[in-house]
Amino acid sequence: MNEFQYFLKTRVQYGENKSLELAGPIQEFSGKNKAVIITDHALESLGFIQPIIDSLAASGIECKVYSEVKSNPTFQNIDEAAALIREFDSDAVIAVGGGSPLDTAKTAALVAGGDHGAEHYALMANPFPPKKVLMIAVPTTAGTGAEVTSTTVYSDAHHRKLWAWDQNMQPDLAVLDPVLTINLPDFLTAATGIDALVHALEAITGQSSNPIIEASGLHAIRLVSENLPLVMREKENLDARGNLLIASMLAGIAIEYGGTGIAHNIGHALSTAGGLHHGRAVAIALYHSYEWNLDSSQIAVFAKAARAFGVTDSYDSDRELAHAGAVRYRKLIESLPIDLEVTADGLTAEDLPHLLAACLAEENQPMRRNNCRYAADEDLERFAKQIIAFQQGGKTQPLSPA
Ligand SMILES: [Zn+2]
Repeated sequence: MNEFQYFLKTRVQYGENKSLELAGPIQEFSGKNKAVIITDHALESLGFIQPIIDSLAASGIECKVYSEVKSNPTFQNIDEAAALIREFDSDAVIAVGGGSPLDTAKTAALVAGGDHGAEHYALMANPFPPKKVLMIAVPTTAGTGAEVTSTTVYSDAHHRKLWAWDQNMQPDLAVLDPVLTINLPDFLTAATGIDALVHALEAITGQSSNPIIEASGLHAIRLVSENLPLVMREKENLDARGNLLIASMLAGIAIEYGGTGIAHNIGHALSTAGGLHHGRAVAIALYHSYEWNLDSSQIAVFAKAARAFGVTDSYDSDRELAHAGAVRYRKLIESLPIDLEVTADGLTAEDLPHLLAACLAEENQPMRRNNCRYAADEDLERFAKQIIAFQQGGKTQPLSPA
């Protein structure tokens, strides 16, 4: 019997314009009537932040905004945000954005309670101080699930990706407001939606899965499969956009205890070596490794995933059904504005050693170990070669032989 424990600390609020109703939770938490909003320049200049500031001002809450977050947040971002939280003496932190502002704010909310900078706590070198603030996460992309997870990712001065974890890192409140995702460019909607789907699939088939992870992950796959193509056709379909936000959150719940696998191992390496967007990178990595994964003890779970992908035909075995799921995944990716060729990112055969080294880097090994099937160095090398050589239109085969 596989034992497990499970808890989710984050309160979730879902609905149209819920991001304009943050005053209540802040005033329930304390009477300071102050909040620090952490976001990036793009969202601020696109007008995402002012309505939130106005709604809080109407309830007497004063805001300061930190909008310097980079797309791969740095120690500096976290330390500057933490300094603002301390200087303003705010006990509410609101993160608005994709994974980068959310990870910056989650980490800064903890760092602000101590005397050290973010570097001190990276890779669990030292425990974080106790959390003293209310942390509210308002995602503007439906993909990372960072609004419900307790791990964050950021870079040091040498662009090395590091992570932090703390039992109090999970936001206290996640506000899922589909209105905020309407103006996202199609590529980002697609890439972040597939990131959520890959989270879900890797968590339910990973070494740490349990029935709660499987339930949330399978429903996340179902919601992305049904709603991502719909959103591509009907950009302002709020119900479909909302379903993608719910899928992203459910996939976040799945990876919180379930972790990810080799699509994230290879995906992180593609981002390191070629600067690919994270969602696109993991979409490409799974495109090439899905069927190889089927040769594992998790074939029954892959068969359930195929049903979640919308496969309705009858098959004689779980293997055939699972295979139909892999085909369905590839067809979904091919229907989306996600470029599968990495030559456009400047990656050529000469970059193979660099890409492989990134796959084998220490920080990528937990994903490799958690995968349903262990990828030997030769397997990773074959995937890396295949990804670099792949040309849409069929000159190379996407499927790796076992
Ligand atoms: Zn991801």
